[in-house]
Amino acid sequence: MENCLFCKICAKTLPAAIVHEDGETVAFEDSNPQAPMHVLVVPRQHIATLNDLGSGDEALVGKLFRVGAQIARERGFSERGWRGVMNCNRESGQTVFHVHLHVLGGRAMRWPPG
Ligand code: 5GP
Ligand code: ZN
Repeated sequence: MENCLFCKICAKTLPAAIVHEDGETVAFEDSNPQAPMHVLVVPRQHIATLNDLGSGDEALVGKLFRVGAQIARERGFSERGWRGVMNCNRESGQTVFHVHLHVLGGRAMRWPPG
């Protein structure tokens, strides 16, 4: 979609430190990391929010988490632990309206989240 930051990163018209890509997903380093590992995993398909998921999107959302787990494993965080977060709309803190999984690790996380 035009004017979507993450669509532009997927199309490589906006630079990003891409760490994984396949037919359905792209993963890249967050430009403002909140932990030693902070990767975003996004679908190539533009879906604005979790509210917009369709009945055919279950496998795609599962793929985001599988890619996140693979990246965490490659970086040695499987056993220590890592956090996967997807924000939806304003009160959650969503600022980019193309669904994305935050993959965070490398420090102790608090619960409940702020
Ligand atoms: P949200 O707040 O929507 O859940 O997360 C958006 C994330 O995208 C934030 O963590 C923010 O730092 C990251 N971000 C925003 N713009 C860019 C960008 O142009 N490049 C990259 N790599 N990350 C971005
Ligand atoms: Zn998009």
